[in-house]
Amino acid sequence: MKTYVCELCGYEYNPKHGDPENQIDEGTDFEDLPEDWVCPLCGATKEDFEQVNNTDDDNDDEIGSEI
Ligand SMILES: [Zn+2]
Repeated sequence: MKTYVCELCGYEYNPKHGDPENQIDEGTDFEDLPEDWVCPLCGATKEDFEQVNNTDDDNDDEIGSEI
């Protein structure tokens, strides 16, 4: 899963955490967010988000196994 960042305000959408304030469950991929989802901080649409390039390549990081 990829982290996406809002180009307008810098908010990061982390699929591991979801967006509880907008009823988005943990583990929801950015691509699976509803089309009408907007940035919780500034109201930008999904089109205003950019994928963040992780420094690690595609490691299989599992939820809850940090450290
Ligand atoms: Zn924003």
